Amino acid sequence: MDTETTRIFEELCFATRILAGEGILDGFGHVSARHPRHGDRYYLVRDNAAEPGDAGNFMELDLESNPIAKDCANPSIERFLHGEIYKARSDVNAIVHTHAPALIPFGVSKTQLQPLYHMCGFLAYGVPVFDIRQDNGMTDMLITSQELGFSLARCLDKSALVLMRGHGATVVGASVKEAVFRAIYATLNAQAQPVAMQLGNPTYLCAQEAFLADDLHRSVMHRPWKFLVRKWCDNE
Ligand SMILES: [Zn+2]
Repeated sequence: MDTETTRIFEELCFATRILAGEGILDGFGHVSARHPRHGDRYYLVRDNAAEPGDAGNFMELDLESNPIAKDCANPSIERFLHGEIYKARSDVNAIVHTHAPALIPFGVSKTQLQPLYHMCGFLAYGVPVFDIRQDNGMTDMLITSQELGFSLARCLDKSALVLMRGHGATVVGASVKEAVFRAIYATLNAQAQPVAMQLGNPTYLCAQEAFLADDLHRSVMHRPWKFLVRKWCDNE
C-alpha cells in the first residue's frame, strides 16, 4: 500500500473513533474520503469499529457508487449520498454522515440551526433541510439510490452540511480533519442553541463574523485533530 493510501486509511479510522467517542457515530453513520490520486473515486469505511491496518475495512467506489473491486461484498446501502456529493462538489474531499440526536430537532422543526459561536462559522454557508418525502414519496428514509443521493446533493448545494428530516445530517469538508471538526461543532452548536433560546433572544454571529471565523479555523485544522487523536486514539 502506498503512503498516501495508508495516510487516508489511518485518517478515516481515527475519524470513526473520534466521532464515536464524541457521540456522533455508532454502529451506524459513516465517514468517507475522496481518493487522493483518482478524484473520481472515494473510500468509504465499512465498519466503524475496525482497526486502522485492516485494509478490507475500506471500500473503494467510483462516483456512481459502484465498488471498484468485483468481489466487494455488502457495500453500504447509503453509499450513494457520498458518490453524488463528490460528483457535485469538487471542493469536498471528505464526508461524515451522522444520526447525532442533537441535530434531529433542527431537521424536523422550523427553528433554524444558526452559528451561536465562533467554532461554527461554517453554519453561515446555510443549513438546508432535506425532506426526502418532498420529491421522493414514501421511503425507508435512507439514501439508497443514486437518484436520492442526487436529490440530497442538490439540497446541500454550497453549504457545509445538510440536515435530513427524521434521519440525521451529512457534513462535508475539504479534508477528513475539517469534516470531523464540522460534525463535532455542528452537534455542539445544536446542543447549546436551545439553551440560549430558553434564556431568550440569542445574538448569533452575523455572516461576516462567521466567514472570518471559518477562514481562521480552516488554517489551523491540525490543532483540534491532534487533540482529538490524542483523546480518542492514543492506544495505537
Ligand atoms: Zn443514515
